[in-house]
Amino acid sequence: MSLIKHIFITGGVTSSLGKGIIAASLGRLLKARGYQLTIQKFDPYINIDPGTMNPTEHGECFVTADGAETDLDLGHYERFLGITTTQKNNITTGRVYHQVITKERRGDYLGKTVQVIPHITDEIKRNIFALEDSKKDIIITEIGGCVGDIESLPFIEAIRQVKWELREHCLVIHLTLLPYLQAAKELKTKPTQHSVKKLLEAGIQPDMLICRTAHDITPEIRKKIALFCNVSPKDVIAAKDVDTIYAVPLHLHEEGFDTRVLQKLALTYHGAIHLEDWRGFLRRYDAPKYMLRIGIIGKYIGVPDAYKSIVEALQHAGTALCCKVQIIYIDAEKVMASTVAQILSRLDGVLVAPGFGTRGIAGKIHAIRYVRENHVPFLGICLGMQCAVVEFAQNVLGFVGAASTEYVQDTPYPVIHLMENQQKVTQKGGSMRLGNYPCQLLPHTKVWEAYDQKTTINERHRHRYEFNTVYLEDFEQQGMRAVGINPDHSLVEIMTLEEHPFFVGTQFHPEYQSRVLEPHPLLIAFLKSALLVHKKIYSS
Ligand code: GLN
Repeated sequence: MSLIKHIFITGGVTSSLGKGIIAASLGRLLKARGYQLTIQKFDPYINIDPGTMNPTEHGECFVTADGAETDLDLGHYERFLGITTTQKNNITTGRVYHQVITKERRGDYLGKTVQVIPHITDEIKRNIFALEDSKKDIIITEIGGCVGDIESLPFIEAIRQVKWELREHCLVIHLTLLPYLQAAKELKTKPTQHSVKKLLEAGIQPDMLICRTAHDITPEIRKKIALFCNVSPKDVIAAKDVDTIYAVPLHLHEEGFDTRVLQKLALTYHGAIHLEDWRGFLRRYDAPKYMLRIGIIGKYIGVPDAYKSIVEALQHAGTALCCKVQIIYIDAEKVMASTVAQILSRLDGVLVAPGFGTRGIAGKIHAIRYVRENHVPFLGICLGMQCAVVEFAQNVLGFVGAASTEYVQDTPYPVIHLMENQQKVTQKGGSMRLGNYPCQLLPHTKVWEAYDQKTTINERHRHRYEFNTVYLEDFEQQGMRAVGINPDHSLVEIMTLEEHPFFVGTQFHPEYQSRVLEPHPLLIAFLKSALLVHKKIYSS
Protein backbone atom coordinates (compact mmCIF):
# COMPACT_ATOMS: atom_id res chain seq x y z
CA MET A 1 0.00 0.00 0.00
CA SER A 2 1.18 3.49 -0.84
CA LEU A 3 2.62 5.60 1.94
CA ILE A 4 1.87 8.75 0.05
CA LYS A 5 -1.01 10.71 1.52
CA HIS A 6 -3.88 11.75 -0.74
CA ILE A 7 -6.03 14.81 -0.17
CA PHE A 8 -9.14 15.33 -2.30
CA ILE A 9 -10.82 18.70 -2.62
CA THR A 10 -14.43 18.65 -3.72
CA GLY A 11 -16.87 21.51 -4.03
CA GLY A 12 -20.55 22.03 -3.41
CA VAL A 13 -23.38 24.59 -3.43
CA THR A 14 -22.07 26.49 -6.45
CA SER A 15 -19.16 26.66 -8.83
CA SER A 16 -16.56 29.47 -8.76
CA LEU A 17 -15.93 29.18 -5.01
CA GLY A 18 -12.20 29.03 -5.61
CA LYS A 19 -11.36 25.34 -5.14
CA GLY A 20 -8.20 25.89 -7.15
CA ILE A 21 -7.03 28.65 -4.81
CA ILE A 22 -7.88 26.56 -1.75
CA ALA A 23 -5.96 23.58 -3.18
CA ALA A 24 -3.00 25.80 -4.09
CA SER A 25 -3.07 27.51 -0.67
CA LEU A 26 -3.11 24.19 1.16
CA GLY A 27 -0.23 23.08 -1.05
CA ARG A 28 1.71 26.22 -0.16
CA LEU A 29 1.13 25.68 3.57
CA LEU A 30 2.19 22.03 3.47
CA LYS A 31 5.24 22.95 1.43
CA ALA A 32 6.07 25.62 4.00
CA ARG A 33 5.97 22.81 6.57
CA GLY A 34 8.65 20.96 4.62
CA TYR A 35 6.54 18.42 2.71
CA GLN A 36 7.04 17.51 -0.94
CA LEU A 37 3.86 17.52 -2.93
CA THR A 38 2.05 18.13 -6.16
CA ILE A 39 -1.51 19.03 -7.12
CA GLN A 40 -3.65 17.65 -9.90
CA LYS A 41 -7.02 18.66 -11.28
CA PHE A 42 -9.74 16.36 -12.60
CA ASP A 43 -12.27 18.07 -14.83
CA PRO A 44 -15.59 16.38 -15.47
CA TYR A 45 -16.13 17.68 -19.04
CA ILE A 46 -15.89 15.58 -22.18
CA ASN A 47 -13.26 17.65 -24.01
CA ILE A 48 -9.91 15.84 -23.97
CA ASP A 49 -8.42 19.13 -22.76
CA PRO A 50 -9.51 22.79 -22.71
CA GLY A 51 -7.28 23.61 -25.71
CA THR A 52 -10.20 23.74 -28.12
CA MET A 53 -12.43 25.80 -25.82
CA ASN A 54 -13.12 29.48 -26.27
CA PRO A 55 -11.78 31.56 -23.34
CA THR A 56 -15.32 32.89 -22.85
CA GLU A 57 -16.32 29.32 -21.91
CA HIS A 58 -13.46 28.36 -19.71
CA GLY A 59 -11.06 31.25 -19.15
CA GLU A 60 -7.44 30.99 -20.14
CA CYS A 61 -5.88 27.75 -21.28
CA PHE A 62 -2.73 27.17 -19.24
CA VAL A 63 0.19 25.53 -21.05
CA THR A 64 2.59 23.26 -19.16
CA ALA A 65 6.31 22.89 -19.88
CA ASP A 66 5.68 19.50 -21.51
CA GLY A 67 3.15 21.06 -23.87
CA ALA A 68 -0.23 20.16 -22.35
CA GLU A 69 -3.12 22.59 -22.76
CA THR A 70 -4.73 22.55 -19.34
CA ASP A 71 -7.14 24.11 -16.91
CA LEU A 72 -6.15 27.51 -15.55
CA ASP A 73 -6.02 26.13 -12.00
CA LEU A 74 -2.70 24.50 -12.94
CA GLY A 75 -1.40 28.04 -13.29
CA HIS A 76 -2.38 28.70 -9.66
CA TYR A 77 -0.64 25.50 -8.56
CA GLU A 78 2.58 26.51 -10.31
CA ARG A 79 2.46 30.11 -9.12
CA PHE A 80 1.65 29.26 -5.49
CA LEU A 81 3.97 26.28 -5.11
CA GLY A 82 6.76 27.07 -7.55
CA ILE A 83 6.33 23.56 -9.02
CA THR A 84 6.27 22.56 -12.68
CA THR A 85 3.16 20.60 -13.61
CA THR A 86 2.77 18.22 -16.55
CA GLN A 87 0.16 16.61 -18.75
CA LYS A 88 -0.51 14.17 -15.91
CA ASN A 89 -1.67 16.97 -13.59
CA ASN A 90 -4.88 17.61 -15.54
CA ILE A 91 -7.26 14.80 -16.43
CA THR A 92 -10.70 15.22 -17.98
CA THR A 93 -13.63 12.84 -18.39
CA GLY A 94 -12.84 12.96 -22.12
CA ARG A 95 -9.28 11.77 -21.52
CA VAL A 96 -10.42 8.99 -19.16
CA TYR A 97 -12.97 7.70 -21.68
CA HIS A 98 -10.42 8.00 -24.47
CA GLN A 99 -7.98 5.88 -22.48
CA VAL A 100 -10.64 3.25 -21.72
CA ILE A 101 -11.96 3.11 -25.28
CA THR A 102 -8.39 2.82 -26.64
CA LYS A 103 -7.81 -0.13 -24.28
CA GLU A 104 -11.09 -1.72 -25.33
CA ARG A 105 -10.20 -1.45 -29.03
CA ARG A 106 -6.79 -2.92 -28.31
CA GLY A 107 -8.50 -5.89 -26.70
CA ASP A 108 -7.30 -5.27 -23.16
CA TYR A 109 -10.72 -6.06 -21.66
CA LEU A 110 -11.36 -9.02 -23.92
CA GLY A 111 -14.49 -10.85 -22.92
CA LYS A 112 -15.70 -8.17 -20.52
CA THR A 113 -18.53 -5.68 -20.80
CA VAL A 114 -16.81 -2.30 -20.34
CA GLN A 115 -18.69 -0.28 -17.71
CA VAL A 116 -18.47 2.94 -15.70
CA ILE A 117 -17.78 0.83 -12.61
CA PRO A 118 -15.18 -0.67 -12.54
CA HIS A 119 -13.52 0.34 -15.83
CA ILE A 120 -13.98 4.11 -15.85
CA THR A 121 -13.47 4.38 -12.08
CA ASP A 122 -10.37 2.16 -12.29
CA GLU A 123 -8.96 4.42 -14.99
CA ILE A 124 -9.68 7.49 -12.81
CA LYS A 125 -7.90 5.76 -9.92
CA ARG A 126 -4.94 4.87 -12.14
CA ASN A 127 -4.68 8.58 -12.99
CA ILE A 128 -5.03 9.61 -9.33
CA PHE A 129 -2.01 7.45 -8.46
CA ALA A 130 -0.03 8.22 -11.63
CA LEU A 131 1.73 11.18 -9.99
CA GLU A 132 3.07 9.12 -7.10
CA ASP A 133 6.83 8.82 -6.85
CA SER A 134 9.39 8.35 -4.13
CA LYS A 135 10.00 12.10 -3.82
CA LYS A 136 6.44 13.00 -2.83
CA ASP A 137 4.79 12.90 0.57
CA ILE A 138 1.39 14.22 -0.42
CA ILE A 139 -0.76 14.49 -3.55
CA ILE A 140 -3.66 16.93 -3.62
CA THR A 141 -6.41 16.22 -6.15
CA GLU A 142 -8.97 18.88 -6.96
CA ILE A 143 -12.23 17.70 -8.50
CA GLY A 144 -13.80 20.26 -10.84
CA GLY A 145 -17.54 21.00 -10.78
CA CYS A 146 -19.94 20.45 -7.90
CA VAL A 147 -21.00 17.29 -6.08
CA GLY A 148 -24.39 16.31 -7.36
CA ASP A 149 -23.52 17.11 -10.98
CA ILE A 150 -24.14 14.10 -13.23
CA GLU A 151 -20.69 14.59 -14.79
CA SER A 152 -18.87 14.35 -11.44
CA LEU A 153 -20.36 11.01 -10.38
CA PRO A 154 -17.61 8.66 -11.62
CA PHE A 155 -14.93 10.87 -9.99
CA ILE A 156 -16.79 10.95 -6.67
CA GLU A 157 -17.22 7.16 -6.83
CA ALA A 158 -13.50 6.72 -7.52
CA ILE A 159 -12.70 8.90 -4.47
CA ARG A 160 -15.06 6.81 -2.35
CA GLN A 161 -13.12 3.71 -3.36
CA VAL A 162 -9.71 5.35 -2.80
CA LYS A 163 -10.81 6.60 0.64
CA TRP A 164 -11.89 3.08 1.54
CA GLU A 165 -8.60 1.62 0.32
CA LEU A 166 -6.27 4.21 1.84
CA ARG A 167 -8.21 4.79 5.10
CA GLU A 168 -6.23 7.17 7.33
CA HIS A 169 -3.84 8.03 4.48
CA CYS A 170 -6.59 9.92 2.70
CA LEU A 171 -8.60 13.06 3.42
CA VAL A 172 -11.61 14.54 1.68
CA ILE A 173 -12.00 18.28 2.14
CA HIS A 174 -15.27 19.77 0.92
CA LEU A 175 -15.59 23.44 -0.02
CA THR A 176 -18.99 25.07 0.35
CA LEU A 177 -20.59 28.49 0.58
CA LEU A 178 -22.30 30.15 3.54
CA PRO A 179 -24.58 32.73 1.93
CA TYR A 180 -25.40 35.84 3.96
CA LEU A 181 -29.04 36.86 3.98
CA GLN A 182 -29.23 40.59 4.32
CA ALA A 183 -32.86 40.57 5.49
CA ALA A 184 -32.16 38.05 8.26
CA LYS A 185 -28.65 39.41 8.90
CA GLU A 186 -27.54 35.81 9.07
CA LEU A 187 -25.13 33.38 7.48
CA LYS A 188 -27.12 30.39 6.30
CA THR A 189 -25.81 26.87 6.74
CA LYS A 190 -28.53 24.91 4.94
CA PRO A 191 -26.83 24.82 1.49
CA THR A 192 -23.72 23.41 3.22
CA GLN A 193 -25.78 20.77 5.00
CA HIS A 194 -27.43 19.74 1.73
CA SER A 195 -24.16 19.66 -0.12
CA VAL A 196 -22.63 17.36 2.52
CA LYS A 197 -25.75 15.16 2.26
CA LYS A 198 -25.04 14.83 -1.47
CA LEU A 199 -21.54 13.60 -0.68
CA LEU A 200 -22.94 11.21 1.94
CA GLU A 201 -25.39 9.82 -0.63
CA ALA A 202 -22.35 8.98 -2.73
CA GLY A 203 -20.77 7.22 0.25
CA ILE A 204 -18.29 9.90 1.25
CA GLN A 205 -18.09 11.49 4.68
CA PRO A 206 -15.96 14.62 4.26
CA ASP A 207 -13.19 14.93 6.85
CA MET A 208 -13.11 18.71 6.83
CA LEU A 209 -15.26 21.53 5.51
CA ILE A 210 -14.08 24.83 4.17
CA CYS A 211 -16.80 27.44 4.18
CA ARG A 212 -16.53 30.43 1.87
CA THR A 213 -18.07 33.40 3.62
CA ALA A 214 -18.22 37.16 3.42
CA HIS A 215 -18.60 37.41 7.22
CA ASP A 216 -16.95 35.94 10.30
CA ILE A 217 -18.27 32.57 11.37
CA THR A 218 -19.40 32.59 15.00
CA PRO A 219 -18.64 29.58 17.26
CA GLU A 220 -22.39 28.79 17.19
CA ILE A 221 -22.42 28.54 13.41
CA ARG A 222 -19.31 26.39 13.48
CA LYS A 223 -20.98 24.08 16.00
CA LYS A 224 -24.18 23.94 13.99
CA ILE A 225 -22.36 22.99 10.79
CA ALA A 226 -20.32 20.42 12.71
CA LEU A 227 -23.45 18.88 14.21
CA PHE A 228 -25.30 18.55 10.93
CA CYS A 229 -22.29 17.39 8.93
CA ASN A 230 -20.64 14.87 11.31
CA VAL A 231 -17.37 16.74 11.71
CA SER A 232 -15.68 18.35 14.68
CA PRO A 233 -16.10 22.16 14.98
CA LYS A 234 -12.29 22.33 14.59
CA ASP A 235 -12.71 20.86 11.13
CA VAL A 236 -15.00 23.64 9.98
CA ILE A 237 -12.60 26.13 8.46
CA ALA A 238 -13.69 29.61 7.43
CA ALA A 239 -12.44 30.97 4.12
CA LYS A 240 -13.40 34.61 4.42
CA ASP A 241 -13.33 36.78 1.29
CA VAL A 242 -9.99 38.58 1.02
CA ASP A 243 -8.58 41.31 -1.22
CA THR A 244 -6.01 39.15 -2.94
CA ILE A 245 -5.83 35.42 -3.58
CA TYR A 246 -2.28 35.52 -2.21
CA ALA A 247 -3.62 36.27 1.29
CA VAL A 248 -5.63 33.02 1.34
CA PRO A 249 -2.80 30.73 2.58
CA LEU A 250 -2.18 33.00 5.57
CA HIS A 251 -5.87 33.22 6.47
CA LEU A 252 -6.25 29.46 6.27
CA HIS A 253 -3.14 29.05 8.39
CA GLU A 254 -4.63 31.36 11.03
CA GLU A 255 -7.73 29.14 10.99
CA GLY A 256 -5.46 26.19 11.88
CA PHE A 257 -6.14 24.49 8.54
CA ASP A 258 -2.69 23.03 7.86
CA THR A 259 -2.20 21.93 11.49
CA ARG A 260 -5.49 20.07 11.39
CA VAL A 261 -4.72 18.45 8.02
CA LEU A 262 -1.37 17.18 9.32
CA GLN A 263 -2.93 15.84 12.52
CA LYS A 264 -5.62 14.01 10.61
CA LEU A 265 -3.10 12.44 8.25
CA ALA A 266 -0.91 11.53 11.23
CA LEU A 267 2.00 13.31 9.60
CA THR A 268 4.86 14.21 11.85
CA TYR A 269 5.06 17.87 12.56
CA HIS A 270 8.02 19.38 10.71
CA GLY A 271 8.49 22.21 13.20
CA ALA A 272 8.07 25.86 12.29
CA ILE A 273 6.21 26.87 9.19
CA HIS A 274 8.31 28.83 6.71
CA LEU A 275 6.12 31.57 5.35
CA GLU A 276 8.54 34.50 5.72
CA ASP A 277 9.00 34.97 1.96
CA TRP A 278 5.24 34.74 1.40
CA ARG A 279 4.57 37.29 4.12
CA GLY A 280 7.27 39.50 2.57
CA PHE A 281 5.46 39.36 -0.78
CA LEU A 282 2.17 40.36 0.87
CA ARG A 283 3.81 43.20 2.80
CA ARG A 284 5.14 44.65 -0.45
CA TYR A 285 1.81 44.01 -2.17
CA ASP A 286 -0.06 45.89 0.56
CA ALA A 287 2.24 48.93 0.69
CA PRO A 288 3.11 49.90 -2.88
CA LYS A 289 5.13 53.02 -3.54
CA TYR A 290 3.81 53.60 -7.04
CA MET A 291 0.67 52.84 -9.00
CA LEU A 292 1.31 51.77 -12.59
CA ARG A 293 -1.45 51.85 -15.18
CA ILE A 294 -0.93 49.03 -17.64
CA GLY A 295 -3.31 48.53 -20.55
CA ILE A 296 -4.06 45.02 -21.75
CA ILE A 297 -5.41 45.11 -25.29
CA GLY A 298 -7.34 42.02 -26.22
CA LYS A 299 -10.61 40.75 -27.54
CA TYR A 300 -11.83 38.83 -24.47
CA ILE A 301 -12.53 41.90 -22.37
CA GLY A 302 -15.18 41.25 -19.73
CA VAL A 303 -14.13 37.61 -19.35
CA PRO A 304 -12.28 37.88 -16.02
CA ASP A 305 -10.18 34.75 -16.43
CA ALA A 306 -9.26 35.07 -20.11
CA TYR A 307 -5.83 36.57 -19.39
CA LYS A 308 -5.32 35.04 -15.95
CA SER A 309 -1.60 34.21 -16.13
CA ILE A 310 -0.75 37.60 -17.65
CA VAL A 311 -2.64 39.45 -14.92
CA GLU A 312 -0.99 37.38 -12.17
CA ALA A 313 2.47 37.71 -13.74
CA LEU A 314 2.03 41.51 -13.81
CA GLN A 315 1.10 41.45 -10.11
CA HIS A 316 4.18 39.37 -9.24
CA ALA A 317 6.55 41.63 -11.16
CA GLY A 318 4.85 44.81 -9.92
CA THR A 319 5.05 43.70 -6.30
CA ALA A 320 8.75 42.90 -6.68
CA LEU A 321 9.20 46.53 -7.82
CA CYS A 322 6.99 47.86 -4.98
CA CYS A 323 4.37 48.91 -7.53
CA LYS A 324 0.67 48.25 -7.63
CA VAL A 325 -0.30 47.36 -11.17
CA GLN A 326 -3.67 48.71 -12.11
CA ILE A 327 -4.83 46.86 -15.18
CA ILE A 328 -6.91 48.72 -17.72
CA TYR A 329 -8.63 46.24 -20.01
CA ILE A 330 -9.00 47.66 -23.48
CA ASP A 331 -11.30 46.12 -26.05
CA ALA A 332 -9.19 45.90 -29.21
CA GLU A 333 -12.30 46.47 -31.33
CA LYS A 334 -12.76 49.92 -29.78
CA VAL A 335 -9.25 51.10 -30.69
CA MET A 336 -9.35 53.09 -33.93
CA ALA A 337 -7.06 55.63 -35.57
CA SER A 338 -9.36 58.35 -34.22
CA THR A 339 -9.59 57.00 -30.65
CA VAL A 340 -6.19 55.44 -30.01
CA ALA A 341 -4.45 58.54 -28.58
CA GLN A 342 -7.27 59.23 -26.18
CA ILE A 343 -7.53 55.56 -25.06
CA LEU A 344 -3.79 55.04 -24.53
CA SER A 345 -2.55 58.46 -23.48
CA ARG A 346 -2.67 57.97 -19.70
CA LEU A 347 -1.03 54.54 -19.61
CA ASP A 348 2.46 53.73 -18.31
CA GLY A 349 2.73 50.63 -20.47
CA VAL A 350 0.76 48.60 -22.99
CA LEU A 351 0.56 44.83 -23.34
CA VAL A 352 -0.99 43.36 -26.46
CA ALA A 353 -2.48 40.00 -25.57
CA PRO A 354 -2.25 36.61 -27.28
CA GLY A 355 -5.19 35.40 -29.33
CA PHE A 356 -6.55 33.76 -32.44
CA GLY A 357 -8.50 34.90 -35.50
CA THR A 358 -9.29 38.24 -37.08
CA ARG A 359 -11.43 40.06 -34.54
CA GLY A 360 -9.60 42.96 -32.89
CA ILE A 361 -6.49 42.81 -35.11
CA ALA A 362 -6.97 46.31 -36.58
CA GLY A 363 -7.26 47.84 -33.10
CA LYS A 364 -4.14 46.05 -31.90
CA ILE A 365 -2.22 47.42 -34.87
CA HIS A 366 -3.43 50.99 -34.21
CA ALA A 367 -2.36 50.61 -30.57
CA ILE A 368 1.08 49.29 -31.51
CA ARG A 369 1.68 52.14 -33.93
CA TYR A 370 0.81 54.60 -31.16
CA VAL A 371 3.13 53.03 -28.56
CA ARG A 372 5.95 52.68 -31.08
CA GLU A 373 5.74 56.32 -32.17
CA ASN A 374 5.14 57.69 -28.67
CA HIS A 375 7.76 55.63 -26.85
CA VAL A 376 5.29 53.92 -24.53
CA PRO A 377 6.70 50.67 -23.08
CA PHE A 378 5.22 47.76 -25.02
CA LEU A 379 5.11 44.02 -24.56
CA GLY A 380 3.45 41.93 -27.26
CA ILE A 381 2.82 38.31 -26.42
CA CYS A 382 2.41 35.75 -29.21
CA LEU A 383 -0.35 37.31 -31.38
CA GLY A 384 0.77 40.61 -29.81
CA MET A 385 4.26 40.07 -31.24
CA GLN A 386 2.84 39.04 -34.61
CA CYS A 387 0.75 42.24 -34.72
CA ALA A 388 3.87 44.30 -33.92
CA VAL A 389 5.59 42.71 -36.93
CA VAL A 390 2.61 43.46 -39.18
CA GLU A 391 2.40 47.06 -37.93
CA PHE A 392 6.09 47.64 -38.60
CA ALA A 393 5.79 46.11 -42.06
CA GLN A 394 2.83 48.31 -42.96
CA ASN A 395 3.90 51.60 -41.43
CA VAL A 396 7.70 51.58 -41.45
CA LEU A 397 8.68 49.26 -44.29
CA GLY A 398 5.82 50.49 -46.47
CA PHE A 399 4.62 46.95 -47.22
CA VAL A 400 1.09 47.84 -48.25
CA GLY A 401 -1.33 45.07 -47.28
CA ALA A 402 1.24 43.21 -45.11
CA ALA A 403 -0.51 40.76 -42.80
CA SER A 404 -0.43 37.39 -41.13
CA THR A 405 -1.80 34.59 -43.29
CA GLU A 406 -3.91 33.63 -40.26
CA TYR A 407 -6.32 36.39 -41.27
CA VAL A 408 -5.36 37.46 -44.84
CA GLN A 409 -4.46 34.36 -46.84
CA ASP A 410 -3.54 36.17 -50.05
CA THR A 411 -1.59 39.08 -48.57
CA PRO A 412 1.20 40.37 -50.84
CA TYR A 413 3.51 40.45 -47.78
CA PRO A 414 2.97 37.38 -45.57
CA VAL A 415 5.29 38.64 -42.81
CA ILE A 416 3.71 36.14 -40.42
CA HIS A 417 2.91 32.77 -41.93
CA LEU A 418 1.99 29.22 -40.99
CA MET A 419 4.91 27.18 -39.64
CA GLU A 420 6.03 24.54 -42.10
CA ASN A 421 5.15 21.62 -39.86
CA GLN A 422 1.66 23.06 -39.36
CA GLN A 423 0.78 23.00 -43.04
CA LYS A 424 -0.53 19.45 -43.08
CA VAL A 425 -2.21 19.67 -39.69
CA THR A 426 -5.95 19.09 -39.99
CA GLN A 427 -6.87 18.39 -36.40
CA LYS A 428 -7.39 21.37 -34.09
CA GLY A 429 -6.88 19.74 -30.67
CA GLY A 430 -3.35 19.54 -29.24
CA SER A 431 -1.71 20.22 -32.61
CA MET A 432 -0.09 23.64 -32.10
CA ARG A 433 3.57 24.25 -31.27
CA LEU A 434 3.15 23.71 -27.55
CA GLY A 435 5.26 23.86 -24.42
CA ASN A 436 8.91 24.58 -23.75
CA TYR A 437 11.41 25.36 -26.48
CA PRO A 438 14.88 26.83 -26.11
CA CYS A 439 15.66 30.30 -27.37
CA GLN A 440 19.09 31.81 -27.91
CA LEU A 441 19.43 35.46 -26.94
CA LEU A 442 21.56 37.94 -28.81
CA PRO A 443 24.10 39.37 -26.36
CA HIS A 444 24.13 43.07 -25.47
CA THR A 445 20.44 43.56 -26.15
CA LYS A 446 17.77 44.78 -23.72
CA VAL A 447 16.19 41.34 -23.51
CA TRP A 448 19.55 39.67 -22.83
CA GLU A 449 20.09 42.18 -20.02
CA ALA A 450 16.59 41.49 -18.69
CA TYR A 451 17.36 37.77 -18.55
CA ASP A 452 20.47 38.47 -16.52
CA GLN A 453 22.74 38.03 -19.58
CA LYS A 454 21.72 34.41 -20.09
CA THR A 455 22.43 33.19 -23.62
CA THR A 456 19.83 30.42 -23.69
CA ILE A 457 16.39 30.52 -22.12
CA ASN A 458 13.44 28.13 -22.21
CA GLU A 459 9.93 29.46 -22.60
CA ARG A 460 6.47 28.03 -23.26
CA HIS A 461 4.64 28.29 -26.56
CA ARG A 462 1.16 27.94 -28.02
CA HIS A 463 0.92 28.94 -31.67
CA ARG A 464 0.79 27.84 -35.31
CA TYR A 465 2.13 30.94 -37.07
CA GLU A 466 5.63 32.40 -37.04
CA PHE A 467 7.72 35.30 -38.31
CA ASN A 468 8.54 34.81 -42.01
CA THR A 469 12.35 35.00 -42.10
CA VAL A 470 12.33 35.85 -45.83
CA TYR A 471 11.70 39.43 -44.64
CA LEU A 472 14.16 39.48 -41.76
CA GLU A 473 16.74 41.64 -43.51
CA ASP A 474 14.12 44.29 -44.36
CA PHE A 475 13.08 44.46 -40.72
CA GLU A 476 16.58 44.55 -39.31
CA GLN A 477 17.70 47.28 -41.72
CA GLN A 478 14.96 49.51 -40.33
CA GLY A 479 15.66 48.71 -36.68
CA MET A 480 13.34 45.85 -35.76
CA ARG A 481 15.65 43.03 -34.73
CA ALA A 482 15.27 39.34 -34.06
CA VAL A 483 17.08 39.05 -30.74
CA GLY A 484 15.83 35.61 -29.73
CA ILE A 485 16.08 32.62 -32.06
CA ASN A 486 15.21 28.96 -31.60
CA PRO A 487 18.55 27.19 -32.05
CA ASP A 488 17.06 24.04 -33.65
CA HIS A 489 14.73 25.52 -36.27
CA SER A 490 15.94 29.14 -36.55
CA LEU A 491 12.44 30.28 -35.66
CA VAL A 492 12.24 33.90 -34.56
CA GLU A 493 11.12 34.03 -30.91
CA ILE A 494 11.69 37.69 -29.98
CA MET A 495 11.47 40.90 -32.02
CA THR A 496 12.52 44.21 -30.52
CA LEU A 497 13.16 47.83 -31.30
CA GLU A 498 16.39 48.50 -29.45
CA GLU A 499 16.09 52.29 -29.90
CA HIS A 500 12.69 52.38 -28.18
CA PRO A 501 12.59 52.56 -24.32
CA PHE A 502 10.98 49.09 -24.28
CA PHE A 503 9.41 47.50 -27.33
CA VAL A 504 9.47 43.71 -27.11
CA GLY A 505 7.39 41.09 -28.88
CA THR A 506 7.72 37.45 -27.86
CA GLN A 507 6.43 34.49 -29.82
CA PHE A 508 6.42 32.62 -26.51
CA HIS A 509 4.33 33.25 -23.39
CA PRO A 510 6.51 34.53 -20.53
CA GLU A 511 3.47 34.73 -18.25
CA TYR A 512 3.26 30.94 -17.82
CA GLN A 513 6.54 30.78 -15.94
CA SER A 514 5.98 33.63 -13.50
CA ARG A 515 5.66 32.59 -9.87
CA VAL A 516 4.64 34.59 -6.80
CA LEU A 517 8.14 34.34 -5.38
CA GLU A 518 9.96 34.26 -8.73
CA PRO A 519 8.55 37.00 -10.95
CA HIS A 520 9.40 36.76 -14.64
CA PRO A 521 12.47 38.79 -15.71
CA LEU A 522 10.86 40.08 -18.89
CA LEU A 523 7.80 41.38 -17.02
CA ILE A 524 10.10 43.00 -14.50
CA ALA A 525 11.99 44.74 -17.34
CA PHE A 526 8.70 45.85 -18.93
CA LEU A 527 7.41 47.31 -15.66
CA LYS A 528 10.75 48.94 -14.84
CA SER A 529 10.46 50.79 -18.11
CA ALA A 530 6.80 51.65 -17.33
CA LEU A 531 7.94 52.96 -13.94
CA LEU A 532 10.39 55.33 -15.64
CA VAL A 533 7.55 56.67 -17.80
CA HIS A 534 5.36 56.97 -14.74
CA LYS A 535 7.99 58.92 -12.80
CA LYS A 536 8.55 61.21 -15.78
CA ILE A 537 4.82 61.96 -16.13
CA TYR A 538 4.42 62.71 -12.44
CA SER A 539 7.58 64.78 -12.05
CA SER A 540 6.79 67.06 -15.00
N1 GLN B 1 -2.95 32.89 -33.49
C1 GLN B 1 -1.52 32.99 -33.43
C2 GLN B 1 -0.84 31.69 -33.82
O1 GLN B 1 -1.45 30.64 -33.79
C3 GLN B 1 -1.07 33.44 -32.07
C4 GLN B 1 -1.39 32.46 -30.98
C5 GLN B 1 -1.30 33.05 -29.58
O2 GLN B 1 -1.36 34.26 -29.41
N2 GLN B 1 -1.21 32.20 -28.58
O3 GLN B 1 0.31 31.68 -34.15
